[in-house]
Amino acid sequence: MPSSPNATDEILAVAVPVPGLALLRYRAAGRTAPPKGARVTVPLGPRSVTGVVVERHASVPPGTTLRDVIAVIDEAPFLPPVIVDLAQWVGEYYASGPGDALAVAMPPAVRGGKAEAFRKVRVAQIVSDGLDRKAPRGPRQIAALELLRQRAEGLTLPELLRQGVGAGTVRSLAQQGLVRLRDDVVERDPFEEDESSGAGGTWTITKAAGHGHPLTMEQTAAFRHLEEAAATKLFKTVLLHGVTGSGKTELYLRLAAAVMAAGRRVLVLVPEIALTPAATGLFRARFGARVAIQHSALSAGERHDQWHRIRRGDVDVVVGTRSAVFAPLESVGLVIVDEEHDGSYKQDELPRYHARDVAVVRGRMEQALVVLGTATPSLESAANARAGRYELVRLTKRVMGRPLASVQIVDMRKEYAAGGPDVALSGPLVAAIEARLEKREQVLVLLNRRGFATVIFCRQCGASMECPHCSVVLTYHRAARRVRCHYCNYSSAVPRTCGACGGEFLEQSGIGTERLEADLKGRFPGARVARVDRDTIRRRGAIAGVLRDVADGRIDILVGTQMIAKGHDFPAVTLVGVVSADVGLGLADFRASERTFQLLTQVVGRAGRGTAPGEAIIQTLYPDHYSIRAAAAQDYETFFVREMEFRETLHYPPAVSLINVVVRAGTIDKALADAGDLAKRVRHHSPHGRVLGPAPAALSKIKDEYRAQFFIKGTHRKAMREAIAAALEARPELKRRTVVDVDPVSVI
Ligand code: ADP
Ligand code: ZN
Repeated sequence: MPSSPNATDEILAVAVPVPGLALLRYRAAGRTAPPKGARVTVPLGPRSVTGVVVERHASVPPGTTLRDVIAVIDEAPFLPPVIVDLAQWVGEYYASGPGDALAVAMPPAVRGGKAEAFRKVRVAQIVSDGLDRKAPRGPRQIAALELLRQRAEGLTLPELLRQGVGAGTVRSLAQQGLVRLRDDVVERDPFEEDESSGAGGTWTITKAAGHGHPLTMEQTAAFRHLEEAAATKLFKTVLLHGVTGSGKTELYLRLAAAVMAAGRRVLVLVPEIALTPAATGLFRARFGARVAIQHSALSAGERHDQWHRIRRGDVDVVVGTRSAVFAPLESVGLVIVDEEHDGSYKQDELPRYHARDVAVVRGRMEQALVVLGTATPSLESAANARAGRYELVRLTKRVMGRPLASVQIVDMRKEYAAGGPDVALSGPLVAAIEARLEKREQVLVLLNRRGFATVIFCRQCGASMECPHCSVVLTYHRAARRVRCHYCNYSSAVPRTCGACGGEFLEQSGIGTERLEADLKGRFPGARVARVDRDTIRRRGAIAGVLRDVADGRIDILVGTQMIAKGHDFPAVTLVGVVSADVGLGLADFRASERTFQLLTQVVGRAGRGTAPGEAIIQTLYPDHYSIRAAAAQDYETFFVREMEFRETLHYPPAVSLINVVVRAGTIDKALADAGDLAKRVRHHSPHGRVLGPAPAALSKIKDEYRAQFFIKGTHRKAMREAIAAALEARPELKRRTVVDVDPVSVI
């Protein structure tokens, strides 16, 4: 018989939830060593913390002194081993350490090692011989026993209360030994609330519910291809590049069904569920209760319950945002990343992972098919497809032979010359809106900037009002009668005089969504206008209400920020207007053009999805900019070639790998000096990589902290990562003030 290794000798490599800390080693010390993925309590300095076993080693190398594990929490893996591997990969690749990545994979209540947060409900159950006992009873007790006799499995206290039986009655029956009380675990189902409040959108489910449409020829070809790839049960990544309205969701649903029929499970990532409740609703309608959803707007309790349902294997499909890439689903055969280009897949706190890229790694670990779907591929994914690392599947047509919207670009320089710089709505846009209102068709108007006026400045000295804590100008919010900083949320009443010179002539300029909404209401008094931006959508579910009103035809004109450009499918929208298409082009970010192209293409794609053809009008000061021209022509190829040229010339991703390092300090000089020192050390460590900077960040001050920045560019990510890690090891006191962002999505 093979002998098991002596348990006392085994050592465990444990990840603990402390940022930046590597794996720690402990001795299992006389206990049966727990498996990879199990939780253990371990000493850490004077404290004890809950960690996760990542590796086991058979014996302690001679001469090492290790502390003992305090307690073993799980005998079986709490996290599936593949999730432990995935978290470890994330910790290494994004230079965050394994603990933070594992923390993301944990259900919320377990993270701090607290008791698990199942929701319990009290149930009263009649004791079998309860009715035969001789005891004096009042009419209330008799009625209660009668109710309970009909329900042998018991009734919850809230149910009893609804039937007129109070807690006091139940308690005295329990004291007499006639009734037994127990605590049951109930699972919070986020759909319950959503479906009753409409937030999950029963309205969206009707059209494609149980069965789905017969596929078009193009869809059929794509589907066959994807289905075959899934059937091999081998890892492969497919970029599904399908124009807006080409019916990608239907393909996801069918592919999911095929994978489940073959006995494997499905993980679906979506950018923001709150903005697209329809997609989630479709999966739920097609696959019923074996679908779980995971996103940050759920309560901790709901997330906890969903996590355990998934872990137990009660779920075949998980639909979720970013962190769902760590869902404890086993035997995954298909990973779908919808709208793969969306920036919200990148987490902007530790660990700074990109869920799309982690999804691909997970697919490789699970031997699954990974489908990255989008109408506007990220440059990274398109470049991967060109290089043959991903396979490309295209959908070039909208379903039912519907044409893409026709697009007109309006040069606002001419409009300003004619009507002054305060014109929000151009002549052509006003005329087009009028025509739609007459035909009772719907209009979306996009302006990716909230507030009323985007700047307040002094006519006497020219100074504009800045946030006292950040290097940004304040936005005027008329309804709130305040100016507000969109970075730190500082706000104040609108001053009467200029803070710089005391001048009394303060002016506003620059138009935000609040002003646009007011203009539209003024111009089209009969129209029902609604606005969607972060100021109007505070409450969970609020956006779903507005989206449903649009779907049900209760709104004529919907104004909003990029929130309205997401994957909505509103058949009655035939006109999309874009006010200031160039809002994002001025940003000092190498992705400015890519984002502009994506946003415009996506929002134009909202028009003409029903039987009536769509039209889009794009207002801009840069009518010749290639990202605006290409979006208007819905010409991805031209955009890609131009943008790749730029990335190659200036050495930006995906032409090179990029790490963005930001150092914060109390003064800009100190931030620059510290960043300079780190940059020098990185240069020294990694002579082949290029280091650019340091320089003050584009936003040089946020929340009273100054920010200096440098880039590390190169082709060997690992060497780059090691160089910055070594630099920080030499200046450990800077770790707390330094952000290391591998593959950054935004660099301002
Ligand atoms: P995409 O995500 O590619 O923009 P959707 O998946 O939202 O497109 O599909 C657009 C619309 O077309 C939806 O209303 C969907 O129900 C419908 N649809 C999808 N496939 C078909 C089909 N084969 N026949 C008819 N309608 C379809
Ligand atoms: Zn601020």
